[in-house]
Amino acid sequence: MSFKALGLDPNILTAIEEAGYTEPTPIQAAAIPVVIQGGDVIGIAQTGTGKTAAFTLPILTRLTSNPVPQGQRRRTRVLVLAPTRELVAQIEENVLAYARHLPLKIAKIYGGVGEKPQKDALRAGSDIVIACPGRLLDLMEQRCADFSQLEYLVLDEADRMLDMGFLPDIRRVIGQLPKKRQTLMFSATLSKEIETLTHEFQRAPKIVQIGKRANPAESVTQLVYEVHKHLKMPLLSHLLKDEKMQMVLVFSRTKHGADKIAKKLESTGVKCATLHANRSQNQRLRALDDFKTGTVRVLVATDIAARGIDVDGISHVVNFDFPHIVEDYVHRIGRTGRAQAIGDAISFVSPDELPDVRKLERFINRGLVRKKAEGFDYNAAPQPFIDERPERREQRSSQPRRPQGGGGRPSGGGGGQGGGRPGGYGGQGGGRPSGSGGGRPGDQGGQGGGGRPGGERRSSAGPAPRQPAQMPQQNTTPDGARGLWKRLTGR
Ligand code: AMP
Repeated sequence: MSFKALGLDPNILTAIEEAGYTEPTPIQAAAIPVVIQGGDVIGIAQTGTGKTAAFTLPILTRLTSNPVPQGQRRRTRVLVLAPTRELVAQIEENVLAYARHLPLKIAKIYGGVGEKPQKDALRAGSDIVIACPGRLLDLMEQRCADFSQLEYLVLDEADRMLDMGFLPDIRRVIGQLPKKRQTLMFSATLSKEIETLTHEFQRAPKIVQIGKRANPAESVTQLVYEVHKHLKMPLLSHLLKDEKMQMVLVFSRTKHGADKIAKKLESTGVKCATLHANRSQNQRLRALDDFKTGTVRVLVATDIAARGIDVDGISHVVNFDFPHIVEDYVHRIGRTGRAQAIGDAISFVSPDELPDVRKLERFINRGLVRKKAEGFDYNAAPQPFIDERPERREQRSSQPRRPQGGGGRPSGGGGGQGGGRPGGYGGQGGGRPSGSGGGRPGDQGGQGGGGRPGGERRSSAGPAPRQPAQMPQQNTTPDGARGLWKRLTGR
């Protein structure tokens, strides 16, 4: 199918051609005609499937076929809500490209930067506003925005906005929009919560469910390195000796962990940048830019900050910590293998993370391939490079959705000083028993104590045993990603 057959405006077709797109992605082919006809849409699609164009191109076409009469004041006609600053910036970048031959004004609104330019842009009357809900609400309360003529509302990554606790803000924003409008909602999954949202904000929406991007699952090789926690950093340094790892995105579960990894890598001469919520907007944009241009080889990021990162050419994604949430795994591995490039997604898995791997494997009905790094000493003694202080995660209202067993003190997660279970994985003690209880979600490890509910509590004074435990054996098969994709997307 060609873009022309979808009924898009000729100026937009020119812009698409200039962007180098030759044919619509599946989500575009399915969603564009419905949106052009004026219907509400629920798009079930991951970032990376071309969903931004799926909603932008038909909206732009509708805007141009129904222009504001000359001399009339410019008012906002389109509002796109998205969960993170990075995603807002990325959507804006895409919209600017697709609308480059159209006389439209576009504003982006997000926190962490000064309000003044955003207020000016809203007051000047931007045709399209792309915003994070929190900052937008602030500015709406200051009466900077005029949405009285709004025609199109897009909720992008609606599932993530719910996860991040934006629902009250979204309700307040939407409460101030005209009821007669076209509403498009995109989400990675169709959950009960998302269905509730559609009943609240949409009218007779059509569901468009496409999972495939340029088929990342098939172009991404997924590997698991079972390794004790204290050896993750040496293993990363070891793997980075391979020059094929030229553009590496490393995921850390916490901001503090991301900083530690980056510091350690820098100390070994590997240039890197970090992306997480404690960094200013300018620092984050700079980090992304340095990564895109190759000034740094490694970008260390947390899930929320990295959400929606659109960087071509990432050769490897490394899950330094294995994600608790299945969807986070998919989003992480989707950062590589974009646009049919070949990429590797590597997960470092310590014994306490095996339950999360098993959960993923159960979900996808297959095992992930285990790999051993050649020439790496899996029995090396711990080195004091990871500070295991407890730390709060980035803002996320929903806690990890895995079942939390009973008991335990908030020092779970492996890594207090003392505690520890016999035969533990490497000596810094503490620790939550695999898969059950212990610890508040979000904690990385505590100082002393901890241990498992009803379990063996060791003296907090004594060093924990240093000999590594045997990693449990797994049955493995190589194509977990395809199954995961299928389960998540229904394709
Ligand atoms: P998205 O899912 O919107 O984040 O898009 C992911 C990437 O796919 C972006 O880099 C887009 O520029 C690119 N893209 C979107 N549509 C197409 C298309 N039809 N052909 C090739 N690339 C596309």
